Amino acid sequence: MTFASLGLAPEVLKAVVEQGYETPTAIQAEAIPVILEGKDVLGAAQTGTGKTAAFTLPILTRIIRHANHSASPARHPIRALILTPTRELADQVYANVATYSKGSGLRSHVVYGGVDIKAQIPALREGIEVLVATPGRLLDHIQQKSINLSQVEILVLDEADRMLDMGFILDIQNIFNLCTNRKQTLLFSATFAPEILKLSKQFMHEPVKIEVARKNSANESVKQELHPVETARKRALLAHLIRVHQMTQVIVFCRTKIGTDQVARDLKRAGFSCEAIHGDRDQRSRTEALTKFKAGEIQVLVATDVAARGLDVTDLPFVVNYELPTTPEDYVHRIGRTGRAGATGVAISLVAPEEGKSYEGIKKLLNREMPLIPVHGFSPGTIQVIDERERPPRAERRHHTDPTTDKGVKEYKQLERMPSRAQREASEVPAFPSNLPKLPKRPPQIAALFQPPQRNKS
Ligand code: AMP
Repeated sequence: MTFASLGLAPEVLKAVVEQGYETPTAIQAEAIPVILEGKDVLGAAQTGTGKTAAFTLPILTRIIRHANHSASPARHPIRALILTPTRELADQVYANVATYSKGSGLRSHVVYGGVDIKAQIPALREGIEVLVATPGRLLDHIQQKSINLSQVEILVLDEADRMLDMGFILDIQNIFNLCTNRKQTLLFSATFAPEILKLSKQFMHEPVKIEVARKNSANESVKQELHPVETARKRALLAHLIRVHQMTQVIVFCRTKIGTDQVARDLKRAGFSCEAIHGDRDQRSRTEALTKFKAGEIQVLVATDVAARGLDVTDLPFVVNYELPTTPEDYVHRIGRTGRAGATGVAISLVAPEEGKSYEGIKKLLNREMPLIPVHGFSPGTIQVIDERERPPRAERRHHTDPTTDKGVKEYKQLERMPSRAQREASEVPAFPSNLPKLPKRPPQIAALFQPPQRNKS
C-alpha cells in the first residue's frame, strides 16, 4: 500500500513525501481510510507506530476540502481539537500538525498550562483551524472566552487512558459537551480499559475499532533486561551501566519527583551531562531540557512518568527504569520511548527487593517470563565494590560505630577493607552482557534472588 492510494489531499501527501515516509504504517493503513469517511474511531496502537500521522493526515485532508480562504479570523474557527494528557505530548503533536499542514494554508496552534495564559491569546485571536491542547488550560481559555468550541467538527483524544489516569474525566466530559457541532470523534488509547469503553459508549457513534497491537503488549523491537539490585546500590549500578553500554542518550525513569532530582544530581556529580524533568519544574525548564536532550546536547534525561507517554525521541537507544512504575501499563509506555518507528532499543530495569509487587504485575500484564539477571559485582547480597563513588562519605562511616545493632555497619566495615584498585580491576567483569551468569532453566522467584548467601555452619 502507498500513501498515494489512501485518498489524502495533495498538500498533505506532499508533506508526507517531504518527511521521507515511504509506506503507511499498520495503524495508518487501517485508520486513514476510515477517518476520511467521517467515521468515529476507537484506536489502540503501540507507541511509536505512527499513530499521530494516522489521525492528523486524514483530519487535515477533511478540513482542507472545506477550507475557507478568507483572511478574517472569524472565518477560521477551531474545526479540529486534539486533546493530549501532557504538555510535552501536546508540543510534539502540534509539531506534527505544523509539519503535515505546511503547504495547506491551515492555521494551527497549541495551548497548555505552566506558561502565561495571556501570551497564548494573540495567536488564538488570529483564528485557527486545528488546536492541540491539554484539558485544564483549554478550559481556562474557555472560561476567559479566548476559545470557543462551538464550531469543532472533529475531536481527538490522544492517550485517552492516560488522561483518565490523570483525573481528567470531568474536564473531558465538559469538553465533549462544549463541542456542540461535533461530527466525528477519534479516541486513541494504549488499552481498551473498561473506563475507555464506557467513555466511547457515552460520546461516540458506532466507532470502528482499530487495534494494530495486542492489548497491553510491549513493543517487540525493544530488548528488555532486568537486573536485581538492592536500592542502595542502584545509583552505582546505573552509572556502571551507562558506562559499559556506552549509552550516548538515555531516559532514566524514577517514581517520584524528589527521586528524579536526586538521581540527576548524583549523575551530574559522577560526570554525566544530565537534566531532570517532572511536574514540579516550570514548563520553560521542562521544554528546554527536552529540547537539549532531543538535540543530543545532554546524555541523560531523568524523568517521572510525565515523559513516559508519547514522547518521540528519534532513535533513542536506551531507557532505564531506575525504579519500576507502580502501574504495570506505565512500564509499557516507558519502554516504548525506545524502539520507535521500527528501530531497535534496549530497556533496562533495576529491580529492588521491595519492588516485587510491581515486577509481578508487569510480568502478569505482559504474560511472559522476565528473568532477573544479576550484573556481576552488583548481585543482591554481595558487597563487591565496583565504583569508588559507592563508598559512603567518611563522616557517615565514622557515625556508625556499633556493628552489632546497625545492619549497614557490617557493610561499611567491609568497605573499609576494600581491596586495592588493581585487585578490584582484576576481579571486575565490565563487559556487559557477554559475561552474565548462565540463566537458570526456571527463573527463580524474585524473593529467592534477594536471599543473602547461605553461610556454612560447620
Ligand atoms: P508516533 O507513534 O506518532 O509518535 O510516531 C513515531 C515516529 O514515526 C515519528 O517520529 C514519526 O515521524 C514516524 N513516522 C510516522 N509515520 C511514519 C511512516 N509511515 N514511515 C516512517 N516513519 C513514520
